[in-house]
Amino acid sequence: MSGTQTKIAIIGGGIAGSTAALLLSRTGAQITLYEKASSLVSGPPFCHLHAGGNLYPEISDEQCLKLLEQSIAFARLYPYGVDHRPTITALPAYCSRSTAHLLPRLEKLTAHYRTLIAKDPANEVLGKPEHYFRLYDKTTIESLKKHPIVPHPQTPDEWMIPFAHEVDLDTIQFPVILVQEYGLNLFRIGAGEMLALSQIPNVDLRLETEVTQIEKSDNEWKITATQNEQPNQERFDYLINAAGFLTGKIDDMIGVPCERMVEFKAAYVSHWKREREHLWPEIVFHGERGTPRGMGQFTPYPQGYFQLHGMTKEITLYEEGLVANTPQSCQPQLPQNLMEKILKSWSEEETRTRTQSAIRHLARFIPSFATATVGSKPLFGAQQIPGSDPTLRVAEVAFPAPRYARAEIVKVSSVVDMCSAIVDDLQNYAQIDNEHFDPHYPYFESIDETELGTLAEQIALSREYPAALARRCVPLG
Ligand SMILES: Cc1cc2nc3c(=O)[nH]c(=O)nc-3n(C[C@H](O)[C@H](O)[C@H](O)COP(=O)(O)OP(=O)(O)OC[C@H]3O[C@@H](n4cnc5c(N)ncnc54)[C@H](O)[C@@H]3O)c2cc1C
Repeated sequence: MSGTQTKIAIIGGGIAGSTAALLLSRTGAQITLYEKASSLVSGPPFCHLHAGGNLYPEISDEQCLKLLEQSIAFARLYPYGVDHRPTITALPAYCSRSTAHLLPRLEKLTAHYRTLIAKDPANEVLGKPEHYFRLYDKTTIESLKKHPIVPHPQTPDEWMIPFAHEVDLDTIQFPVILVQEYGLNLFRIGAGEMLALSQIPNVDLRLETEVTQIEKSDNEWKITATQNEQPNQERFDYLINAAGFLTGKIDDMIGVPCERMVEFKAAYVSHWKREREHLWPEIVFHGERGTPRGMGQFTPYPQGYFQLHGMTKEITLYEEGLVANTPQSCQPQLPQNLMEKILKSWSEEETRTRTQSAIRHLARFIPSFATATVGSKPLFGAQQIPGSDPTLRVAEVAFPAPRYARAEIVKVSSVVDMCSAIVDDLQNYAQIDNEHFDPHYPYFESIDETELGTLAEQIALSREYPAALARRCVPLG
């Protein structure tokens, strides 16, 4: 079987499935990407490039180093989806841990970043390694408070000024860390995928098409997919299950071993009217997950919109929001009220209550933010976590049956490694052109920025979000 004859089916056009379609297209295989929604990357949201895992003090150093490595690969693949603004992390004054606990890891991350750049200078996508992180003591921040806000910050100090102006410095510990973890824009990434994949002749993008049945016969998969209520069966040599939190449903159709969890979470969109608009860094206030003091995350978008996470049960997390599969089914079952949010809609009341809780959560540290209001419906969704460890942040793919890859990403940055592993497995069954598999190929170079921006905004509006959420904070340089 040669590359041009190999037929690959991908179920799910989230970041995992659409990246697989893009990267595997260069192997010469014929790829069919099935997505039941009307656009790509419509699953759970993402806004943060975890380039070092600094949001997660509880995870291992190994996971953080992997997150750094994978985030660099992701930023190289999707340069147009990255917002180059740093993240400021502060530990609240009441935390028993101190910033000193985080420093050894930051040093390891810096050293690893240096090594990655030495291997390939193009890996330098987070700035100079010596500037990967910077510490700010109280005196320096108090002196920055006297500086006027710079509308388009360039230096770490300039990014720190809005923080110095607005954060109540009595509520946090020092030093504060500024780290080069950037923002991601899911609407722009989705739009770019739609445009790029529609130009690739060996990728057949089937939107609004749901895979409803799978049969295995000899060395083939017979896949039935339904579009406009019309079922259609086709044969494939290799199957990639990238169905996100519904991965277990596909596993059940095939009958393979599995162990996974699914977690429902939501982030809230607020609007903060200010006299003058200026750029903000992302700001994270650490805290113990699941307690009333859970981490608060303040993510800026243009035109006064801020996305908020609060890792408490009243904000981002939900009672019974984390569920595991059973011996009877690979598909973990979320409670009815959470499935209704995914499949139907949110009540205005819950949107208001939870968004206001999120605003109060952040206003504990940024008092003036208390005047923010609800900006739109929340960004929400369920994500899968393979295995039984809910703190797992790095996972790629499993191969529980021949000719079958099961995408299992937890963070979007794992998609490039996921695709490399799939190409390795694929070679066991097909003569593909693996030499041309290249995560660094400039897939989006020919895409017109205006067309991309317009489509990103259309996608945001069609999902009932403000167009501003589809715009970059930091303009392309
Ligand atoms: C609130 C929240 C915030 C998050 N923030 C971040 C962040 O800042 N950074 C980060 O890296 N990660 C973040 N994540 C995690 C991230 O969103 C997920 O890891 C990622 O989106 C998963 O992508 P996926 O492609 O695996 O799944 P999905 O995006 O869920 O894609 C699966 C697709 O499969 C389709 N599908 C399912 N079944 C079928 C079928 N039978 N036929 C056809 N199509 C089907 C679905 O419609 C869907 O589009 C966050 C998650 C949540 C919930």
